[in-house]
Amino acid sequence: MTLLKQTLNATRFVMHSMTYPYNREIIKAQQPMKYSRRGWIALLTTLVVTSAGGYAAGWFSPNETTITELAPGVFFRKSQTEPVFLGCNQGWVEFKDFVLVIDANFPNQAAEVAKLIKKHTGKPIRYVFDTHYHGDHADGNMIYTAQGATAIASENSQLLFDTKGLDGFRKSQQSKPEEYGPLNYEKPTLLFPRKMVIDDGTQRVELLHFGHAHTAGDAVAWLPKQGILFSGDAVVNGAFNYTGDSNTASWVGVLTEIQTLPIKTVAPGHGEVGDEKLVPLQKRYFVELRETIQQAIDDGKSLDEIKADIELPFYQEWTGVDVRERTENIEFVYGELTSR
Ligand SMILES: [Zn+2]
Repeated sequence: MTLLKQTLNATRFVMHSMTYPYNREIIKAQQPMKYSRRGWIALLTTLVVTSAGGYAAGWFSPNETTITELAPGVFFRKSQTEPVFLGCNQGWVEFKDFVLVIDANFPNQAAEVAKLIKKHTGKPIRYVFDTHYHGDHADGNMIYTAQGATAIASENSQLLFDTKGLDGFRKSQQSKPEEYGPLNYEKPTLLFPRKMVIDDGTQRVELLHFGHAHTAGDAVAWLPKQGILFSGDAVVNGAFNYTGDSNTASWVGVLTEIQTLPIKTVAPGHGEVGDEKLVPLQKRYFVELRETIQQAIDDGKSLDEIKADIELPFYQEWTGVDVRERTENIEFVYGELTSR
């Protein structure tokens, strides 16, 4: 597959930890993506990815935003995550007469992607599918709906959009007025209970809600013809898991269901594209985190002791980050296991 790499100029600003799941700084991309002439010709670098699995291949480029054509008409845009966090990964699928965008992203990133799609395909964006309500996935909805698109999400996310989603958007209007100030919150209006299919004979995309994972309303986009899964934050590739809105026992169950799909490629919510091995890897983290913390609780250890002592070597091999650095995850799971 061809990978197009793009370096984005950016200015820094500090974000609210309350409105955003990741305790890190993010930057705002100012420079639009550049492509020459027709087609997906990278101005900077073109390279061939020999393995779809970043983990398996030991291949990561956290400092770059890249676009990969995973299959004809199916695009994956991996957002830069280091040294600063730009937003979520996105996808788009080119149908005969229209385009489906997977995850809106922040408004400024959404504007870049919308421009890029328009330039490349000339087709209208008819749908934008939000895998969940978090601002880095859904706050840019209005960029697409202003162009005539309809925003889609699972019905179980509706309440979250109306409450925490709207709340986070208003906070971002205060903290990031130059990006959010003049914009109106646009929540999804097309809602599906468990499954929705978009199929025009050329492309088929199944939007699936399995249950409470990263949030209560998580949904994924499954392309059965190509075996491609756009997983949102139900599956990430790297130390990106945020558990604050999750139910980790249910999350493991959702991943078990997702594993029944004949997956070839996973386009995760954050981090590099992966293969079918990424879903069990993600599941292993929550299974072992829960088991290890439960064992420590049974041994009479305090939360502070668990945070100091916990070991999960495979997690560092996978993400490059010591499991003890993910204190939010440890605290959340401890809370789940002690609040029964
Ligand atoms: Zn999220």
